[in-house]
Amino acid sequence: MNPIKILVVEDEIIVAEDIGFRLKKLGYIVTATVASGEEAIEKVTENQPDLVLMDIVLKGDMDGVTAAEKIRSKVDIPTVFLTAYADDKTLQRAKLTNPFGYIIKPFQQNDLRVAIEIALHRHEIETKMREALKASEASRESLEEKSHRQNQYISMAAHELRNPLNAILISAELLELDRTRSSDESQVRTLRLVHSATQKMNQLIDDMLFMGRAESGKLKCNPLPINLVEFCQDLLDQLQLGNETKHQLTLIPSNVTSAILDQQLLHGIISNLIVNAIKYSPNGGKVSLELEYSQAGDGDKEPIFCLSPQCLFPNSKFTNINSPSLIIKIRDEGIGIPETELEKIFEMFYRCKNTGRIKGNGLGLTIVKKAVELQGGAIGCESKIAIGTTFTVVLPYVALSSKRDRTYG
Ligand code: ATP
Ligand code: MG
Repeated sequence: MNPIKILVVEDEIIVAEDIGFRLKKLGYIVTATVASGEEAIEKVTENQPDLVLMDIVLKGDMDGVTAAEKIRSKVDIPTVFLTAYADDKTLQRAKLTNPFGYIIKPFQQNDLRVAIEIALHRHEIETKMREALKASEASRESLEEKSHRQNQYISMAAHELRNPLNAILISAELLELDRTRSSDESQVRTLRLVHSATQKMNQLIDDMLFMGRAESGKLKCNPLPINLVEFCQDLLDQLQLGNETKHQLTLIPSNVTSAILDQQLLHGIISNLIVNAIKYSPNGGKVSLELEYSQAGDGDKEPIFCLSPQCLFPNSKFTNINSPSLIIKIRDEGIGIPETELEKIFEMFYRCKNTGRIKGNGLGLTIVKKAVELQGGAIGCESKIAIGTTFTVVLPYVALSSKRDRTYG
């Protein structure tokens, strides 16, 4: 343990020398001996002692009580007052500074040691209590935040489920009423409405369940061999079917065909990014999905993150972009994301101001972020208003043949 450092504030030279001598004998270090309150304040910040021994009655404008008050407001260092005589009023003031001890002059060496040790011990206990209080306050705040988020989910879900539910209800009533009168075509249209409303509800429930599992730490990364090309092509085909060919969805041929990845998480990432690319390109256009394998130490390659830096997750575990990686790029020619909002798009429920009448809950990118983080990856976004948006996801790459060599965090 480091020796304890003490600042002595005593204006009587002989007494000060005596205290210094005794302290050294007891094994303490005297950082400085000063005669005034002003000097004490100066030395306390300069030398950072563990304790201040302060004479109450000091010559000059500032007495020991005021000096102790000022020191206390600046740094968290315990003060022990030294006093031979002091009027009641001064003693009352001294009490108010919540001192860690008093030593009455003249004193024995042992009195000095006991007062110092008790003061240091009390200070240590108080510091620990303060820290524990802070920690419990922080955990209370995080619980409150969690419960606030849960309330937000519930009210959002209730609100968002009501629309499709109403659509289903009205459609069912229409079908019931017009059973005989309406044409087959009109019945098919109504049934389509029911189908789309049910799909919306399903999607929302899936998203909520995903977020719930992620929040409670139940969502784990479970990597398995996966044929990337087939997986991505199937996903694009499904989305193209539901998209009435307004957009041209393309899988760009690449140097990577398979990997070991968590299929559910990968689905969450790619489907949300493609759905966004389609949704936020109301005038159609090209939407491309590109997969690329980047080997460790491809020095001549352009850096993966030539992206807006504020969009990268600062807490991403994916720090070594020189290790083998799977790079997924999703590009669109849509409305773009305002530069000032780029850093907010991964926040839960956040929707950019330029979305206009395009519907959404602001959950998709939160899911993408969680799914990327769970796999130890990173994500970035580049966007230009009315030109388009590119999301780049980087995931640690594990080739099929090297499953035993690498594990996921
Ligand atoms: P949800 O995905 O829950 O249905 P959402 O699409 O509004 O709703 P996110 O996917 O989380 O929510 O996206 C957050 C916001 O980021 C969107 O509301 C939109 O403003 C913006 N955004 C995301 N992707 C794009 C994109 N490709 N082009 C333009 N803006 C986008
Ligand atoms: Mg979305």
